[in-house]
Amino acid sequence: MYIYIVSFENTEKRLLFAVAKNVKETFDLDVRVSWVAGSFKYAYDSQRKQYMAEKVVEYLSTLNYPGLVRMLAILSSDLYAKDLEFVFGFGVKRDAVVSTFRLWATEERLFFERVFKVVNLTLGKTFGLDYCKDHKCVMNPHFSLTDIDAKTKNFCDYCKTKLKTALSQLTL
Ligand SMILES: [Zn+2]
Repeated sequence: MYIYIVSFENTEKRLLFAVAKNVKETFDLDVRVSWVAGSFKYAYDSQRKQYMAEKVVEYLSTLNYPGLVRMLAILSSDLYAKDLEFVFGFGVKRDAVVSTFRLWATEERLFFERVFKVVNLTLGKTFGLDYCKDHKCVMNPHFSLTDIDAKTKNFCDYCKTKLKTALSQLTL
């Protein structure tokens, strides 16, 4: 079973591979990285200069790869969702998208760390995890970079147990 990480923009390869390593370590599932040439244009709002998260995820849900259990798209463009000015990440059932647009930091380690946190929370949600009150837990809700920087990229014991159960019940 695999988590597929896809990009359809010129997202930095080093970042994609770093995300892949983080996902493998965090979710204990094998990861495959690929570039999809699919047209996401219909998900792009040229007035807002943002992609609409619901439409990106809808497109992802039409893609199928062998052994796929989750699909995660990494975008360097900004992302919004219905009624929200912007979102860092968005996930529905099997598919998720994360934007690196608002996570940028001149220090690469910090930038990557922020991306890992948003990825882990967004994928965590696709595995049925909820927001968590533990301030260090990655499932603690974040609304700003300050929130993101204040927590760790790891799950608290409670969320870890919940995730383990969800992972053990995964089927193709
Ligand atoms: Zn937690």
